[in-house]
Amino acid sequence: MHSPSDDALVLHSEEPALQSQRGGRELPELAHRLRSGFVPVVIPLWRKNLARIPALISWLREQGRALPMPEAFQPRPNHFLAEDLGAYHTYVQHLLSPHALRVAPPDQELLAIASRLDHATLVPAGDRLRLFGMITEAVFVGPRVFHLDVTNACNTNCLYCWFHSPLAGARPDAAKLDRRWRNSFLEVPVALQLLDDLRELGSVEDLVISGKGEPLLHPRILDLVSEAKDRELFVTLFTNGILLDQVLRERLLQRPPDLLYVSVSAATPATYRLLHRDCAEGEFERVRANLRALGESREQLKLATPRIVLVMVLNRYNAEELEAFYELGRELGVAFVRYQVMADEPYLREAGLLAPQLPAVLEQLAKVEKKQGEGPRLVENISLQAVRLAENQTDWSHHHFLHHPCNVGWFFARSWADGGYSFCCSPKATALGHDRSFKELWQSEHYRSFRRAGKYIPSHADFTFEDGTPLYTPICNRCPHYEQMAYFDNLARSCGLEEYLWR
Ligand code: SF4
Repeated sequence: MHSPSDDALVLHSEEPALQSQRGGRELPELAHRLRSGFVPVVIPLWRKNLARIPALISWLREQGRALPMPEAFQPRPNHFLAEDLGAYHTYVQHLLSPHALRVAPPDQELLAIASRLDHATLVPAGDRLRLFGMITEAVFVGPRVFHLDVTNACNTNCLYCWFHSPLAGARPDAAKLDRRWRNSFLEVPVALQLLDDLRELGSVEDLVISGKGEPLLHPRILDLVSEAKDRELFVTLFTNGILLDQVLRERLLQRPPDLLYVSVSAATPATYRLLHRDCAEGEFERVRANLRALGESREQLKLATPRIVLVMVLNRYNAEELEAFYELGRELGVAFVRYQVMADEPYLREAGLLAPQLPAVLEQLAKVEKKQGEGPRLVENISLQAVRLAENQTDWSHHHFLHHPCNVGWFFARSWADGGYSFCCSPKATALGHDRSFKELWQSEHYRSFRRAGKYIPSHADFTFEDGTPLYTPICNRCPHYEQMAYFDNLARSCGLEEYLWR
């Protein structure tokens, strides 16, 4: 075994920037030394090298060193990270030391991080590994939330919808939303492969079956829910409730999703009609009856699921009905009410909340918060959005991501019905088409570059995705994942690890 010496070549990472950050030499210089004669190599096991050992060995092999290829570090679920680090060090050292390559024991910083996470026993195991991933710039577990879009087709045209609103014709890319796009349905074999991938990746705490249209229009939607449940995934299904007639309700209750998000956004027929301009006569009443009947059937069958989340996208037409909407939820016996401030896209501006409406919105919100003990619970996202409403603004994340990391790449991913995967709910393609398996994509070096760009978003705002979309767009000022991002910030803070989200 070789020990470190003045002559040993110390390899921090194959990335030149990391080499110099850690006081190492530039890669071309290291390559030159390796090629000009035998030199012992030392790889320090520090936090950004931990998951890079196979990549570093690969690089050394490219420089002509005959080395066996080790497995990547993979912590065991529900096991102590510090112990796993020790075991991994023993394994690679045993494998590589006969080849004049020494892997140093985990450094003090890495051990301290692992120990803090090991002591955070109240943090769910999957989230602990995601946090460890953010810190080490590696991925050890699947996303916490995965949006599976099953169709772009829709049977309504909500005024606030990015895609089907009568106002969406003014989108700069409106031409892309053509007939082919509108008739996209996810193919079942692709969906099943995706479900298998998510199961294998582990810890997908929420599979959200959604779409840019109405998921219940997919002819195999209930089979897909059932297949996801077979794979023991927690399933959330989105709908607008229009198609939930008796036949569909009975089928849904045979293998129910865990949560059913129903977007209604109005407490009265008149407001519903303002927001759904082409709706059929009596549609609001029908949706209300469908939901009431669903709740009653679930009670009769003594089922615990689906728990219903009634959704209101807050805009200028329904702002005065915020409290009435909560009462509608109570009347229907739903478990949760979710209020979501409408994203103020330029082409939807005619529907956005108006500044003079905001005090009344906050007032109603305060009232329904007090009612929670005896009625549906509020989904917490609105409390973060309300902070900005109190400042008379509707861009809830404002300029946050000009100064803070975007760590969405560790806890979320989305698949589109017309093919491809997205980094977040704002369309940013990590792959075009479904040719590549999601599992392979999620674990790839390529995906690592997306995650790293997000982590260092203030200096990587111009980074572009596969479809040419830049990382930082105006949607980052009303980030769809702001609440989850805050959750991981809080976790990191509670473990004393917040600084590592930055560096
Ligand atoms: S909208 Fe911007 S900040 Fe939010 S998750 Fe997407 S890239 Fe990150």
